[in-house]
Formats: sequence, structure tokens, C-alpha cells
Amino acid sequence: VIDRYGTSSDQLLPILRDIQSEFQHIPAEAIECVALSLDIPRTQIISVIEFYSFLHSTPQGKYALLVSDSITDHMLGKQDLMSYMASQLKVSIGELRTDGLVSLNNTSCSGMCDQGPAGLVNGYALTNLDRPRIDAIVKLIEQNIPVQQWPSEFFMVKDNIYLPGLLLQDPIAPGDALKARFQKGLQQTLTEIDVSGLRGRGGAGFKTAMKWRFCSEEIETERYVVCNADEGEPGTFKDRVLLNTYAHQVFEGMTLCASIIGAEQGFLYLRGEYLHLYDKLQNILQQRRHSGLLGNNILEQGLNFDIEIRMGCGAYICGEESALIESLEGKRGIPRNRPPYPVSQGYLNKPTVVNNVETFFAASKIALEGGQWFADVGTKQSQGTKILSISGDCTKPGIYEYPFGTSIKQVLHDCGAASDILGIQIGGPSGTFIAENEVHRTLAFEDLATGGSFIIFNQSRNILDIVKNFTHFFAHESCGFCTPCRVGTLLLKKQLDKITEGYGSAGDVAALEELCQLVKNLSHCGLGQTAANPILSTLERYPESYQQRLKKISYEPGFDLDASLETARRLANRNDAGAHLAQVEED
Ligand code: SF4
Repeated sequence: VIDRYGTSSDQLLPILRDIQSEFQHIPAEAIECVALSLDIPRTQIISVIEFYSFLHSTPQGKYALLVSDSITDHMLGKQDLMSYMASQLKVSIGELRTDGLVSLNNTSCSGMCDQGPAGLVNGYALTNLDRPRIDAIVKLIEQNIPVQQWPSEFFMVKDNIYLPGLLLQDPIAPGDALKARFQKGLQQTLTEIDVSGLRGRGGAGFKTAMKWRFCSEEIETERYVVCNADEGEPGTFKDRVLLNTYAHQVFEGMTLCASIIGAEQGFLYLRGEYLHLYDKLQNILQQRRHSGLLGNNILEQGLNFDIEIRMGCGAYICGEESALIESLEGKRGIPRNRPPYPVSQGYLNKPTVVNNVETFFAASKIALEGGQWFADVGTKQSQGTKILSISGDCTKPGIYEYPFGTSIKQVLHDCGAASDILGIQIGGPSGTFIAENEVHRTLAFEDLATGGSFIIFNQSRNILDIVKNFTHFFAHESCGFCTPCRVGTLLLKKQLDKITEGYGSAGDVAALEELCQLVKNLSHCGLGQTAANPILSTLERYPESYQQRLKKISYEPGFDLDASLETARRLANRNDAGAHLAQVEED
């Protein structure tokens, strides 16, 4: 493995992934060997393994099954299916079967919300799980059939594009955007991107032309392009589709960026859950090299640029650009302090442009069609179109492209959502939950900004179950670096569970709200700053849902106080009535 990747420490993650796929975990001997070869402390490697949920220092099953824990999977009956799977395989959830053949666990959203319940086996996506399919999977496992020989339909991942718009309906031919770029020249191409008004599509909305210009103006000449394909926000899967069907155009956008900022190396950071795309994407890169669209002297214009694919390892936080860069460098994905921003000190502390898949995809077509072509669509502050990943309670979950300014009502109509809407989660758990009476609102940076996730809930859903799922997600995905988020998200989870399980009081709701503000205001990065959003937005819109679960007292402990004092009573040699707490608080 070391021979394959070399001894640079930034290759740590690919090395660990390969070792794990050989041994179903990363043995202690391998850790020693890697530490020596890469000249990094053994403890650093262990901390990296512990950080990423797809890396393990203890054995996993020969068949490692993970089932997606996204809210949409729950809505499709995930809980029952997983219990069924556990009983058929005779393995407990979160455990390895004693014969070592199979392990079963939960994983955060796997990016298949339009075709769930979904899961992964040895890293490969399984879609549309139901009992007959689970029966077949159990049989294959018990017969020890290699995953490569399982029926291909188990792994079929559809695009489900229902509404292609400006960008999706006419993909560009490989090389066309680059030819346009060389014809127009660097400054004119950058001007076109500027005129288009294109803003980062990952959610933050920073102007793309400005980011590229800042990077190109840095004194340091070693620069990098990074495509963030780590879409981990539950309910988001548009980048999966773009990379499956429009990868040429995404790579073209990265090359275009490289030609503007002067980079020679690019990375596609692909989320671990999209392992099924890896070989296909490698082939496309190879085709582009053969066609003179990557490598040395691209299109004979003197541009040298190549792209390497790096796989993520199951950490939501690596969608944050500075955490992603840390991960690319072979470290734990802990967000950096900013400033300095990646455009001046990014990968290896060199100027780096990090953009979302959709941003590069759009930029390449803008280079070809011109900025005004894109700017003519959308609103004044939000130009162009936005690609949505729609899932939940609708008849046509999938991909839709809309001009900015489109109303939520229109989207609901197009995807076949019924009229009994409870609410819509826009932008994933870190975004905004809107109620049925807000469907006149619009998709736009100035109203409802979104990275693309759009989850619909009808009246049969319980708002607190939804919020609970999102809050557990954040507690699980906190990187643990800063206390307000590491401890705060766990406290939010505990406090919310107490309320949803019927042990809460009015005082608990007030405390929950206060805690939300603390986590929001004191956390280091966007994860912590938005982790309380699901609670805050639903407390505001559905206060009655919380009130219905409360006990009619002003304070209720989350544990049995009297039982907890047992040791103290024994030490004090008292067991009379006065030594017991009587919880008599009433209305
Ligand atoms: Fe990590 Fe959370 Fe702090 Fe962000 S806010 S750095 S995810 S602990």
C-alpha cells in the first residue's frame, strides 16, 4: 500500500482505506508500519482512525452492513427493516456477529434519500431496501457470495432527474468551455463569471468570480483547486447525480478555474458513501487526459493541470471547506480558524479555491454561454438556477432545477406533494424548517437559501420525531473540537429526548431554548452554529407540539433523584422518611 501511495503524510487516508479494505479493519501492526513509513506518530494515526466513522481499529464483518439513518429512511420504514435485518442475520445492531461474517450498524444519511431505505455493504450503496431484498441479501451473506457477484439491481442508483433547467438540459461537450476560455482570454472569462452573478452553491453563497480573483492575486504561485463533493447534509444528493451523469462538465469547471488562478493540481474530495462512482470518475479523468483536456499542455495552450480523486471517510464536518482541507492533508477534519481563508492559505497552506460540485458545473457552462445568459434568470440578488434534491412525502422524489425566485408552492406542485403539508425542511437540518402557511416564500439567497436539500413532511409525520432525528445527527457529527458544540449538542440531544419521551416540564423547554442560543452563539464553526436550528425553528412554529408532551409541573429531573441519594443515605445511616425526597411539586 505504501508503495502505491508513497510516504507523504497527506496520503494517510487513502493508505488507511486500502488497509481496511484488505483486513476489514486497520490492525495495530499496520498502524505501526504506517507510522514508521510516513514518519508520523502512532497516536496521530489512531486519532485519525477514531475520528472517521468509516475507519475502524477493531474488526468489522466480512460483510459490513450500514443502514442509513436519515429522516427520509425512517419515513420509509427503516427502523422495522433494520430490526428485521438484525433478526434474520442473528446479529445485534452495532455489533459484529461471533463468527465474524457480518456486522450491522447505522450510518448518517447515505445520499440516497430519493431511493431509500438505503444502506451500504462494504462501502457500496444499496438502494430500495425492503423485506424481499433483505431476505436475498441474508442468503447471499450466509452463502459467502462476494459482494461483486450480488445482483446488480441491488446497487442500482438512479438519477431521477424530473425537472432539468438551464444547466441540466443541455450539458456541454467535453472541451468546449476550455476552448471558449482560451478564445476569450483569462480576464474576459473571469468577467463572464462575474457578470453571471454565480455564487457558491454549497450554501454559503460567496461570489465565485471574487473567490477566483482573490486566489489568482495571491503572491504564492503554488495554488490548488478543490471540488467539494462531500455533500453530507441529510436530504442532499444532487452532487451524486452531477458526478454520475455530468462529470465531464464538473471536471471542465475545475480545469477552467485552474486556468484562471494558475493551479496545476486539483482534488475531487468525494464523500465515502459515493464509492460506487469512483471507478467511473477515474475513467472519465483518464479519457480527459487522452483527449488533451487534462495533464500537460492542455489544448496546447501551455496549461498543466491534473485532478486526483480523494475519498472521504464518513465525516459530515468535512463538507466544511477548511475541515475538508485538513482531511486532504491526512488529518482529522477539524475546521481551521478563519482568517486566513483557503484562498490565501488552504491546502498545504497554499492559495486554494474550494467550490461545490454544482458551482464548477455551472461555471463551465457560463464560460461557454456567457455571463449574461445566466444572469438573465433568477432574481436581482440571486442570479441563475438552483438544483434541488427533493425527498420525503411526494410522489416524484429526485432532482429539480429552478430559477431562483421560484416559490415553494410551485416546487411542491411539481414534485407531487399532496396538500396536507406539515412543513418543509429547506437546506437540510442546518437550514430552515418552514410551515405550511409559508409556501409563498421563494428559493433565493435573500429568502430561503439552500445548498439543495428539500425534504417534505405531510401531516402524518410528528414534528418532534423529525427534530429528534436532526438533533441526534448533529450530536453524532460534532467533531468534538470546541466545547460549546461537543458538549452542547449532546445536552441538546438529552434535553430534547427528555421532552419527547414525556418527562419534560415547562422549565425544560425554557432551558432547551437557552441552551440552543449558547450552542449557536459560541460554537467554532457552522455545524455548531446551526445545530440548534431544527429546535429553534420548530419551537417558533409548532410550540403546541412541545407543550403537548410536557408534564404539568415546573420542574422534572431527568433521572430518579431519590434513588441517586441511596449511597448518601447508607453512609449517613439513615433511611427514615425525612431522608427521602418527596417530589410533590404540583400545578
Ligand atoms: Fe467541531 Fe462542532 Fe466546534 Fe465545529 S462547532 S469545530 S463541528 S465541535
